[in-house]
Amino acid sequence: MLLILYKMKAIGIQKYLLISTLLLAAATLRCSGQIEMMHSEVAFLVDSVGNRYPSSTGDLTVRQHILRHFASYGLTSYEQPFEIVENVWGEGSMKLLGDGIEKEFVFGKDFDVSGRSAADSLEAPYIVVAGVVPDPLRCLLRDKVVICLQKAPDSGTGARVLTPSDVIQASGLAMISVLPPGIKISHRKSKGNRSYKPRPIPMLSIDYDMLSAFIPQSVADRMTAGSIYNAPESKRIRVSTRHFEKRIPAANIVGLKRGSGDKFIIVGAHYDTCAPNEDTGDIRRGANDNASGVAVLMALALRLSQIETRHSILFVAFGGEEKGFLGSMHFVSHLPLNKDDVAEMINLDMVGRMNNDVLYYKQYNDVHIKPTDVSWEELVLREQEGGLSDYYDFANAGIPVTYFHTGEDLVIHTSADTSDRLNYEGMDTIQLYLFNYIITVLSVADGAVTKVVTGGIRKKPLQLSVRAFSEVRSGIEPL
Ligand SMILES: [Zn+2]
Repeated sequence: MLLILYKMKAIGIQKYLLISTLLLAAATLRCSGQIEMMHSEVAFLVDSVGNRYPSSTGDLTVRQHILRHFASYGLTSYEQPFEIVENVWGEGSMKLLGDGIEKEFVFGKDFDVSGRSAADSLEAPYIVVAGVVPDPLRCLLRDKVVICLQKAPDSGTGARVLTPSDVIQASGLAMISVLPPGIKISHRKSKGNRSYKPRPIPMLSIDYDMLSAFIPQSVADRMTAGSIYNAPESKRIRVSTRHFEKRIPAANIVGLKRGSGDKFIIVGAHYDTCAPNEDTGDIRRGANDNASGVAVLMALALRLSQIETRHSILFVAFGGEEKGFLGSMHFVSHLPLNKDDVAEMINLDMVGRMNNDVLYYKQYNDVHIKPTDVSWEELVLREQEGGLSDYYDFANAGIPVTYFHTGEDLVIHTSADTSDRLNYEGMDTIQLYLFNYIITVLSVADGAVTKVVTGGIRKKPLQLSVRAFSEVRSGIEPL
């Protein structure tokens, strides 16, 4: 069949390719060891290691484990380190001055400093506002410390209040949020996430009872939504704030199968888990989310490392996904290749609970083939969103993405996501299918195929020995 293909190319007929029987033989090759391999991979990640939270002992163990395996498959393997902002918090001092008053407030008791506060020192007059400020009056906020009631006394829940962005836009110098009545100040470290970055102004908070230090009680009692109290210029607030971050090391593990062509396929699955439950200490073992994806990734890495492909394949086990896809965000912003050379990114997250033979997919950007173009009788391919995952930054960067998953799973991120819940037969079918899918994407990247015609795929997979596999391997080298 390959000979026929090349003859077709020679006479300029490149409109379509009938996938060769040799390819099909390779694609349908079901190594009896693959299920066992994926089973033991999940058992190691989930039962032996368990917690794979970034920088935990389990995280370091798994990183070494994946590196070793990628290397043993003959892939160029390396760690791509990055840092995760685990916690952010602020500290500071605050003083009220003027009209013969000098009142010092106690940090952590009278006021708090937000984890997203800028580090700064300033002294300025202040204004107190309840709810939003109409546009014509926003100039009143300029060069002031803006004290904002988070809930105006007469407004219902959900009423709009002034946001930090409003204050910044109006050239306010600092923002002090007044918590709703009944809620007390407590100094907390906030969790870092994708958008932890500090705002450009100091951001503090006080509780409602503290408001009477800044406005006469009689005025406080009469404030309603939209009220503004402009303090006399002589009264000023002096604030000094500091910003702190706790950073922890994390890493992506990369295995590169290098080809001579200039295109790349990226196959990714995150290996990390959420942190153990803070109250109970229960470990979130992450079997479906996402030891299943890692096991399929490893099976594909092993299988694809044994055949010749003209283009390159990058296998990436991402860290820090549960913290907001931080590993993949870092990977995309430090892409080790030209973005335009990525033929496709394939994301595997939660592929361990296949039900009724359904494999879901969702594609983003200009993807050249649909999963349904690569037919597979043992699978029902269905388009469905799968929640946010490591594909997010690839998709935002305009890279063609296909996200595969086996559907919603309500117990992920709890200690109940255990290895006995997984459908290993289903995972085996998925890795067989994905092998076929990846080979097809590579063919399309080569420009040899503009239309994929599939058919004749055996329902019962071929049972080939390892020796037979090496014969198949030599047969598809022209790819
Ligand atoms: Zn996940």
